[in-house]
Amino acid sequence: MIARVKPLAWAISLGAGLALSTVATSHDHGHSHDDDHGHEHDDDQRQLGAHVHGVATMTIAQDGGDFVVELNTPSINVVSFEHLPNTDAQRSELEQALTLLQDASNLVELTRAGACELEDIHVTSEQLAAMGYSSSGTKDDHGHDHDDHAHDDHGHDERHSDFVVEYTFHCDEPSRVIGAHLPVFEAFPSFETIDVQWIVNSQQGAARATAGSNAVLFR
Ligand SMILES: [Zn+2]
Repeated sequence: MIARVKPLAWAISLGAGLALSTVATSHDHGHSHDDDHGHEHDDDQRQLGAHVHGVATMTIAQDGGDFVVELNTPSINVVSFEHLPNTDAQRSELEQALTLLQDASNLVELTRAGACELEDIHVTSEQLAAMGYSSSGTKDDHGHDHDDHAHDDHGHDERHSDFVVEYTFHCDEPSRVIGAHLPVFEAFPSFETIDVQWIVNSQQGAARATAGSNAVLFR
């Protein structure tokens, strides 16, 4: 069973008024197993929450000494297919992607002076869940309850799916965290743009990161 994605209540509860509703909507996307059809591959909308290949969204939210970074991306930015894995090669590709994602430094680096340490990580993916991985990245070889879901999408390459990756950092000097560097563009070259919304040090903002402009300043 796919672990439920945590709602963004923690971010909304900051009361910063950031328009997170579209981001929250994206959390449903790809996790309800039967609504993935009908998304246009050539949809070039860049609105937050849309499933657009090459495009991802990220929220960075401070809560005291904790910084929660959530990346929501089409699977195609992480692996070469979005359907459930059918072959050993596809399963291997997914496991390699998971290994990369589990090293947060491949995706996001907060200002070093903040003395931030990764505390927690969750990777939510239908594709990994189909292989028995929980969102904490551990493989469950026992109760394969996902078999109950009646996936009938084998061989349907038009299927879309998403990855949601959530990192929680604890920073000893949170007030010194003034930005983030996003090496994700190097680790996963299929990422083209990442729309970032941040709520840090009682301020909020948004920025678009690209391979050529992969740093976000919280100001
Ligand atoms: Zn897709």
